[in-house]
Amino acid sequence: STSAGASPTASPTTTSLDHYWMPFTANRYFKTHPKLVTKAEGSYVTFADGRKAFDCLSGLWCSPLGHAHPKLVETVKRQAETVDFCAPFQIANPWAHQLAGKIAGMAPAGMNRVFFTNSGSEAVDTALKIAMAYHRLRGEAGRTRFIGRERGYHGVGFGGISVGGLGPNRKMFSPLTLPGVDHLPHTHNLKEMAFTRGQPTWGAHLADELERIVALHDASNIAAVIVEPFAGSTGILVPPVGYLQRLREICTKHGILLIFDEVISGFGRLGSNFGAQHYGVTPDLMTFAKQVTNGVIPMGGVIAKQEIYDTFMTGPEHAIEFSHGYTYSGHPMAAAVGLTVLDLMQQDGLIQRAAEMAPVIEDAFHSLKGEPGILDIRNAGLSAAVELEPIAGKPGLRALNLFEAAIDEGQLFRAAGDTLAVAPPYLVSKDEIGRMVDTIRKLVRKC
Ligand code: PLP
Repeated sequence: STSAGASPTASPTTTSLDHYWMPFTANRYFKTHPKLVTKAEGSYVTFADGRKAFDCLSGLWCSPLGHAHPKLVETVKRQAETVDFCAPFQIANPWAHQLAGKIAGMAPAGMNRVFFTNSGSEAVDTALKIAMAYHRLRGEAGRTRFIGRERGYHGVGFGGISVGGLGPNRKMFSPLTLPGVDHLPHTHNLKEMAFTRGQPTWGAHLADELERIVALHDASNIAAVIVEPFAGSTGILVPPVGYLQRLREICTKHGILLIFDEVISGFGRLGSNFGAQHYGVTPDLMTFAKQVTNGVIPMGGVIAKQEIYDTFMTGPEHAIEFSHGYTYSGHPMAAAVGLTVLDLMQQDGLIQRAAEMAPVIEDAFHSLKGEPGILDIRNAGLSAAVELEPIAGKPGLRALNLFEAAIDEGQLFRAAGDTLAVAPPYLVSKDEIGRMVDTIRKLVRKC
């Protein structure tokens, strides 16, 4: 078509919306309700129509330092002039090695080998492959099965949707999802835990389902269990007290690897470096993405226990030990930005700051209890969710209406199903949290 390819200087108001097939978006709805972000600065985004809103979810859980941070702008410029790209196989850039060291220093003791990817989805597929290959290298080639969890989100690769527990993401591809995957039950139960502050006390027993699955298949066939320490994408589902510990015990007992998908919980969202430290449970592999580069340049990765890495380091020294990797693994731009992000988190005490603001967000959001049509309020670290009663026969519409109306009030929420989620930048103020809650209070009374 001839309308393609508007020049970079074209005005947002004349930008054609015809050609971009948007991800996880109601494309036809978007074209009638366009929302183009034309400026992002600090904790605020501005739309082409002039509306400005607080970025309640830090982008998509990925910009805890806010937008256009001067130090990150400077890093991108400097790195583009220094080494903008170098091949990732057989040669390397120093920034990727430095960042791996920095990440290892933040991870739980013994988790100190880092494999880079470009996204959370790639990180999940990489972790599953490492787990399967590790067992094979140790002479347990039968360990090929994986166990995920209902309502888990592990990205959209075939591996990720297989261990993930979201029906809509799986149904078109059901015949091609990985064979040999079971799912633990999810831990969300409104009757037992609605309006719990932080971790529910009910539900640790749901981890015992793992014993049932192990008994069914035999441990000798199972490679790994993968869960999010707290599930972010499906509306902030917080692990019951003792649940992750129980999973760890059962995995250890049966020689099954435990993978934490820390794409959302990694790098401070819970007020600790990783969910592993926050909940006091050390897995064998952890995935990360999003916050490591503040969303400025895509990057993800897997952190492995040294023992897992060492298992691969056999065979002739000149031979590749793990036939896996991406053209953009350890991309120098991403690695340099990651180094600056993690330096800033440390120098400015930002993870500590997230920890300090966690009780503020908890108190503020739980003050909404009793407002009309709110089924549940949940919080984990510096994040919170409000689950709304759906409009009968139209799931998701109530949260969508609220999301739209909130932009007029200067708040950009995230609607996941009928749940509104927030995970603000770590420097969020008490007033800014107050304004988010005031907006929800006002809108649930009328939407
Ligand atoms: N894993 C978890 C826990 C996530 O929340 C996400 C994204 O939200 C992913 C994996 C997928 O990451 P990406 O969208 O970068 O592929």
